[in-house]
Amino acid sequence: MRWLVDNGYETISPEDIAQVIRTPSSRKKVLLTFDDGYRNTYEYALPILRDAGLKACIFISTAYIDSATPFPWITCDKSTAVKYYMPMSSAQIKELAATEGMSIGAHTVTHQRLARLPAETADAEIRDSIRALVSVIERSVTHFSYPYGAKKDFTERDMALCQAAGLHTAMTTAARSIRKSENLFSLPRLTVYEKDAGTNFALKVEGFYDLYDLYRRVYLYRHLH
Ligand SMILES: [Zn+2]
Repeated sequence: MRWLVDNGYETISPEDIAQVIRTPSSRKKVLLTFDDGYRNTYEYALPILRDAGLKACIFISTAYIDSATPFPWITCDKSTAVKYYMPMSSAQIKELAATEGMSIGAHTVTHQRLARLPAETADAEIRDSIRALVSVIERSVTHFSYPYGAKKDFTERDMALCQAAGLHTAMTTAARSIRKSENLFSLPRLTVYEKDAGTNFALKVEGFYDLYDLYRRVYLYRHLH
């Protein structure tokens, strides 16, 4: 986060995306997002973001709010899971939402791959998670991220369901920067891992992975056509 600040990056809110991608000088803008609703987002990330005056959006799967057990998809040993991967409480989510620059987005109720669900179930996963968050934070919820978020995990149908549910954006895990011609219901994002600390983080932010993505697409195009 210090690197972002030192290198002149400005953090934006998801609500700003539509306008930012129309702006020619959008290169030094970054949207920070956190998925699932881990308590460590509240305990570790929030103080850093708040102290640095950075904006971020936290996408929450609502079935696990206030749960006394770690998220069900966490596979590490119990004591590590309890230490690092517990869900946030509704009080913590309220506090996050009330912090300047923070937005709360929906991430379904039970964190399943939408593409594998019947339309009615997918629709309920989207709408019920929005409704649950609205009742916790008492303000509207207009942003969403797809669980797992890879190309196979959501379809055009799910993008349409998000739009029909009143959402303004939906985010994937397609690993590249946002382009000018982007569909607001399949926005790419670069995942940052622990091993990215330092140079790799800078490369991700500065667009190195966009070159990789371009290379991959050109390569695949030339070899499949
Ligand atoms: Zn997730």
